Amino acid sequence: MQTTRVTLLPGDGTGPELVAAACRVLEATGVHLEWETLQVGQAAGPGSGLPDEALASVRANRVALKGPVTTTKERRGPRSVNVELRKALDLYAQVRPVRSRPGIRTPFSGVDLAVIRDTTEDLYGGVEFEAGAPETEALIETVNRAGRGEVRPGSAIGIKPISEAASRRVVAFAMEYARDHGYGHVTAVHKASAMRSTDGLFLEVARHVAQDHPDVAFDEMLVDSTCAALVRRPQEFGVLATLNLYGDILSDLAAALVGGVGLAPGMNVGPDAAVFEAAHGSAPKYAGLGKANPMAMILSGALLLRHLGEGDAAARVEAAVDAVAAEGRTLTYDLERTPADLPPASTDEVASAVIAALGRP
Ligand code: NAD
Repeated sequence: MQTTRVTLLPGDGTGPELVAAACRVLEATGVHLEWETLQVGQAAGPGSGLPDEALASVRANRVALKGPVTTTKERRGPRSVNVELRKALDLYAQVRPVRSRPGIRTPFSGVDLAVIRDTTEDLYGGVEFEAGAPETEALIETVNRAGRGEVRPGSAIGIKPISEAASRRVVAFAMEYARDHGYGHVTAVHKASAMRSTDGLFLEVARHVAQDHPDVAFDEMLVDSTCAALVRRPQEFGVLATLNLYGDILSDLAAALVGGVGLAPGMNVGPDAAVFEAAHGSAPKYAGLGKANPMAMILSGALLLRHLGEGDAAARVEAAVDAVAAEGRTLTYDLERTPADLPPASTDEVASAVIAALGRP
């Protein structure tokens, strides 16, 4: 049987323990995977959080399973490893599928949607100018001279670049994803009413791209209305195609409707590589405690298997997670157990329960 080499980036915080749990499950499917492990984030030590060797490994293997990476919130701290990784590998489309799972008690059932966002532009592009820096003051002067409104001297500035090319590429990806995954319906999410040049361009391009995909229904919605609609009737959504910042927020919101980020998988896809990772962060307060929920990482592993053409193994992993969720006994602290007075299971106990369920018909 053929062995596929996959880059493994355990990350930091709870990343290493969650990635280890996911690897155990993937190996138990019988699919032959060879892990090439490289450190990123705080685990990479001093220096770059994204060493060249890690990037080279993903480029060579074209596929990676990645744990979360902690990013500083300090103004002068290093830039996000996640943003840098997506940029370096041109992982332009991030997909976060959100699905109701049997047995998980939430106010909603029958949710099956996917948030797809461009990850190359928008306010996450890192084009930022420090408050008070001479180049920022010069920029403010230029903007104010152009007569597009008054920017206060001393402001910090973040630039929101939105291009036709990036918008076209991500909406086309969303259209094809919707068609291939049976959604048949894409909603372009924007705020063109307030940001005419940027979101307006995204929306205009989305409408054009939609015309090239007559087999997929298309509509559009303001991002604030989308939030309200999601918490009232999430079942009505299929694929949401959107910009970087909105997609980040909407995917956490949508995940919370069906049990939280501990159950939310994701993937970052580009022309040359795909990186699979949970929607959640590194939850540093739980690092090393063995109590974080590994299901999002396991389900990200299932997406990886499907990407490798191992659809049967992927479906078995997803069914096993569903079986463990439905049984309700072996669930981590973030999910309600049945009976409710059962103590929370550990990360490893959940992985073992999923492995045991893999073998069951
Ligand atoms: P977080 O996702 O780490 O945590 C948010 C909440 O969800 C917390 O209450 C946490 O305990 C809980 N949670 C997260 N993962 C969980 C799991 N597997 N099981 C159970 N509960 C879980 O978000 P945050 O606290 O905003 O961010 C922490 C760090 O992670 C930050 O440095 C942030 O930048 C980083 N981050 C990284 C990624 C990534 O690597 N892709 C994504 C988001 C945030």
